[in-house]
Amino acid sequence: MPELPEVQAHAERLTAEFGGATLAKFTPIAFHALKTVVPAPDASLGQPLRQVGRRGKYLLLDFGADTFVVHLMQGGRLKPDPKQPARPKGGLARWTFADGRALLLTEHGTERRAGVWVSVTDGLLTRPPLDDLGPEATDITPEELAERFAAKGVRLHSFLRDQGAIAGLGRRQANEVCHRAKLSPFASTKSLGIDGAKKVVAAIHEAIDEGLAYERGRPDMSSSADRPGGVHHRAGQPCPVCGDTVREVSYAKYSVNYCPTCQTNGKVLADNTTSKFLK
Ligand SMILES: [Zn+2]
Repeated sequence: MPELPEVQAHAERLTAEFGGATLAKFTPIAFHALKTVVPAPDASLGQPLRQVGRRGKYLLLDFGADTFVVHLMQGGRLKPDPKQPARPKGGLARWTFADGRALLLTEHGTERRAGVWVSVTDGLLTRPPLDDLGPEATDITPEELAERFAAKGVRLHSFLRDQGAIAGLGRRQANEVCHRAKLSPFASTKSLGIDGAKKVVAAIHEAIDEGLAYERGRPDMSSSADRPGGVHHRAGQPCPVCGDTVREVSYAKYSVNYCPTCQTNGKVLADNTTSKFLK
């Protein structure tokens, strides 16, 4: 799934290409794509796209009074649509501009979870779907994170993926941040304290900066396999820091990757593959 670096760089790309273009038409192509009824998307017709912003893993198409909030989930993409076919493959919604160009939201795969919300811009952050997001991963201070760690009491990897705890990270960045912080992904957040929070905040900035630098140098959003990183989906490969073998604990929907030497005092955690069938 695209995470903060991919979504942020894509928002910047879309602003550069479509910023200022006037919306002529909004077309929901799939019935499940538009998640809100009020305000009507038509209220933005005739308005210029002020910018494409981001909150967590959401893209925010700001048309002044109203904003389209887009979540790509796993297989969603929002791209220029030069051919504008009537029934595009995987098509969810289309924004057509007065100059003839268009943006198309597609979702490939079977998840059917990508979607569009229309929200008033004034109060955007306090309305669904953005209202229950935690602080931005790149804005949180060590003190604030330490407070949230103490209040939650979950495994660090789970905390980092929880958008209500901290917004913008996903499975990849959770793995990369734990590795950079030299902390076990299975450490309880209650045990980390301010020292752990400082390490995690520093690791978030390093991981996000690396991802952003990579994404900003590309013409389009990268595919998952191309994104930079040290441990994510690299089980069996040498750790780029110490050379130990990167390990994996698998779950039904994701895997936790870690380096024993860097993160768990050399301890190899049970790769409980039966959990694939239990979860
Ligand atoms: Zn290592």
